[in-house]
Amino acid sequence: MWQKKSIIIIVILMFTTISCIKPPGQMVITNCTIYTLDGNNPIAEAIITADGKIIYVGDEMGSLPYINEDSQIIDLNGGYVIPGLIDAHCHLNGLGKMLEDLNLMETTSIAEIREMVLAKVKETEPGKWIQGRGWDQNKWKDQKFPHWRDLNGTERNPVYLRRVDGHAVWVNNTALELCSIDADTPDPPGGLILRDSAGQPTGVLLDNAADLVKNNLPVPSKEDRRRWFLQAMKECSRLGLTGAGDAGMKREDIEVIKELAEEGKLTMRIYAMLSDEDPDLLEDYFISGPEIGLYDDLLTIRTVKLYADGALGSKGALLCQPYSDQLSTVGINVDSLEYLYDITKRALAAGFQVAAHAIGDSANKIVIDTYQRALQENPVKNHRLRIEHAQVLSEPDIARMAESNIIASMQPTHATSDMPWAEQRLGSERIRYAYAWRTLKDAGVKLAFGSDFPIEYPNPFYGIHAAVTRQDKDNNPPDGWYPEQKMTVMEALQGFTTWAAYAQFQEEETGMIRPGYKADFTIIDRDIFHIPQEQLDDIQVLMTIVKGEIVYSKM
Ligand SMILES: [Zn+2]
Repeated sequence: MWQKKSIIIIVILMFTTISCIKPPGQMVITNCTIYTLDGNNPIAEAIITADGKIIYVGDEMGSLPYINEDSQIIDLNGGYVIPGLIDAHCHLNGLGKMLEDLNLMETTSIAEIREMVLAKVKETEPGKWIQGRGWDQNKWKDQKFPHWRDLNGTERNPVYLRRVDGHAVWVNNTALELCSIDADTPDPPGGLILRDSAGQPTGVLLDNAADLVKNNLPVPSKEDRRRWFLQAMKECSRLGLTGAGDAGMKREDIEVIKELAEEGKLTMRIYAMLSDEDPDLLEDYFISGPEIGLYDDLLTIRTVKLYADGALGSKGALLCQPYSDQLSTVGINVDSLEYLYDITKRALAAGFQVAAHAIGDSANKIVIDTYQRALQENPVKNHRLRIEHAQVLSEPDIARMAESNIIASMQPTHATSDMPWAEQRLGSERIRYAYAWRTLKDAGVKLAFGSDFPIEYPNPFYGIHAAVTRQDKDNNPPDGWYPEQKMTVMEALQGFTTWAAYAQFQEEETGMIRPGYKADFTIIDRDIFHIPQEQLDDIQVLMTIVKGEIVYSKM
């Protein structure tokens, strides 16, 4: 190592006396292995950046002419550099909030959750809402939905606990009373109030029914939102994420993000999708058009997020045939067909991309039908229409996605989180085309990978591990769940870099390490291509660089 350093020092001295013919590099990344994901130049030894972009990628000797006494030399001491990782579908605000709320992600029983809520009640002023997120009845012994009675003893405070997928909430009796939800309350469109045999609410509300409570929660202040975004970005940088596709931003979120950007506080690139929960927001953007590359390419707003159904875990995913474990239901259609079509058509006309949430096979079919109909009427060439999750599909619909160039934005950890119960819900036939990223890819569908945090952990290496192994964090099952769907390490990494960039129209700017591309890098502690695959989720981030600036370092 001292030899490399000596060469660099000698060259710096040389260039202080003779004039330099190459443009000066501001950052020099050296003494490392660089996996560029650029097929023309796959492995390199040094990177030079200037003005937030890459100006050189290659061997160390070739980098020397760019170095002058002002260059910031980053000696990685044998570390590994990959392109900055992008989470194609996530919720920054939700992550920031979750870092503050009760985190129920690791809980495995009702009793454990009740204990946590009781402890929180003790330290919370009476009457103030207690919020939490992450419960999953599939991890409990009887796998049944909980009841408000399971939160007995917490009556001093209204309690609002979101299921891990965000598509169901569990509230206590105080919350039900406060929100006047009783036997006479009708199910709202696109939602379900679960009831006992006497018709009384059980305290679990699915999809749009959650709004009956949600609308009574204290409205987050601007200060809350700022804090959540800042905390979430900090967590992302720690985990090596340099870009996030935020799947559903409201007007207030956009205001806060723009304010933070103006203050120079964005530490990652944000690709914002507009939430359709605020119709006025969509109307305004349909008039003003997309906002691309704001704040030195840190913020882009050019996508509309829609919802065709709920989620599989809470039986809100819309299926063509009834649930295999509950023949009385096919799930929930969140937005009407006509609405999906109308917004898609108008979004395309106004220059927007559409990203529609679809989990069940029926929801996916509806979205593909909608996209095809809209494209037939307005054949936008480079539309990059996306389906978020694309979880349960039929074989013909996979072919239709390929044919219409519809991107599947998938979350590998959803497969490994859902695998203990997904087959029960879907049966042995439908499961073959569920979480089927290999089948999709082989059929010619373009993929993008993400985590959907805070529904899953934000760590992208968990996603890479899940995509490659189809195993949980304990490496079960031994050969992987439906192992024929495995990705290679290269493909998994592309899912979180070049393919995610494509889903954001940014494949010519980011996702690879190549001259002219953005200087976004994730630096890791081990060789991702040569470690045993079960260690992929143990990879540690040493440094995260965005726009040629270090936003996280533990070196
Ligand atoms: Zn999401």
